[in-house]
Amino acid sequence: MPNAADADFYGLEQLLDDAGRDAVQRTREFMTKEIEPVINRYWTREEFPFEAIPGIAALGIAGTAYQGYGCPGGGPLLDGMIAMELARVDPSMSTFMGVHSGLAMGSIYLCGSEEQKQRWLPPMARMEKIGAFGLTEPDVGSGVAGGLTTTARRSGEEWVLSGQKKWIGNATFADYIVIWARDLEDGQVKGFVVEKGTPGLATTKMTDKIALRVVQNAHITLADVRVPEASRLQNADSFKQTAKVLRLTRAGVAWQAVGCARGAYEHALDYATQRQQFGKPIGAFQLVQDLLVKMLSNVTASACLCARLAQLQAEGAARDEHSALAKAFCTVRMRETVGYARELLGGNGILLENQVGRFVADSEAIYSYEGTREINTLVVGRAITGLGAFV
Ligand SMILES: Cc1cc2nc3c(=O)[nH]c(=O)nc-3n(C[C@H](O)[C@H](O)[C@H](O)COP(=O)(O)OP(=O)(O)OC[C@H]3O[C@@H](n4cnc5c(N)ncnc54)[C@H](O)[C@@H]3O)c2cc1C
Repeated sequence: MPNAADADFYGLEQLLDDAGRDAVQRTREFMTKEIEPVINRYWTREEFPFEAIPGIAALGIAGTAYQGYGCPGGGPLLDGMIAMELARVDPSMSTFMGVHSGLAMGSIYLCGSEEQKQRWLPPMARMEKIGAFGLTEPDVGSGVAGGLTTTARRSGEEWVLSGQKKWIGNATFADYIVIWARDLEDGQVKGFVVEKGTPGLATTKMTDKIALRVVQNAHITLADVRVPEASRLQNADSFKQTAKVLRLTRAGVAWQAVGCARGAYEHALDYATQRQQFGKPIGAFQLVQDLLVKMLSNVTASACLCARLAQLQAEGAARDEHSALAKAFCTVRMRETVGYARELLGGNGILLENQVGRFVADSEAIYSYEGTREINTLVVGRAITGLGAFV
């Protein structure tokens, strides 16, 4: 079992096999050595550390949730713990991987034909090709299921896509962007893999975000973008399939929330033992210990919930409401935790150099993306009452 100072307080890492623990350890070392020392500089400048991609690729973690197609496999628990490890050092890098390995690869894995999976997933697992996922639009966020306005019109062996997307992570540089659009003929939402450089596709980087500033979010315009039928995800014929992808990735975001909270907690614990006031370390004051224990409780409860969710996923028993409850609960606990950590650092908590401030800012985006607290609550509410309350 870990010692008491370890934020994995109940030793969840012991649930992994040796290979899984190695992967977590490799990820931790990479993030601590290569990312932590430089990330604030990128955050301040709203830039992405492209030179880190080969190092992340070498970790062999893209596609951990999937079997075959060049993916490392490993299952939902390992996939979640890796997402947590990434977020524990930097929520932006975790989001970058969440979009690439979760949303984009997940769409292809869950909704692509055999041939499409063979075509796209191996280079994505090697991270030679990077993915993005375009669902949200400037005027439609929470209401995408019924309100999506981007259109897809069949024209012989091609489709013509028209519309706009907002917030699309990685899209400024991604090789493959999964675009969700409404088929004008049957009114259903379908998925298309649009390759970088396709005529009519334009991406503009969103700037001046106060959270996840390293993530390159884009506004996308699709002006009569032509894609072959072979690039339409063959097993996605309605929003039900999009929801399957979100079921998978919302669990990943819950793990990210654990990582974001845990990173802030660990910095706060370290600070509490160093910072002296009234002639002793502030960690010796009861009220400061109270903050630390509340943080640890949040991190532990959230991590245990995610670990059980991962077991349900592995058994094929996880439903939308299981992921939704985890996403809503863990992000609420994360937001509270990073606030406590900031409080514990006093004025130093708002200085970027002390790391915690970045977690506070980044937590705001994690709180809202992949379904807000309200929307995920409504998913659970519908499941427990049998009554939909979305509109
Ligand atoms: C940093 C970041 C990265 C993102 N990356 C991506 C990406 O890669 N791809 C992608 O497709 N999208 C992405 N998104 C979009 C994200 O998923 C949406 O922001 C999210 O779904 C919420 O939509 P919205 O921001 O339009 O808020 P809105 O839907 O406008 O909601 C505003 C408020 O109204 C509330 N609300 C809405 N409907 C209801 C209701 N029925 N009942 C009660 N309350 C309601 C919401 O909970 C929220 O508090 C990203 C967002 C951010 C911030």
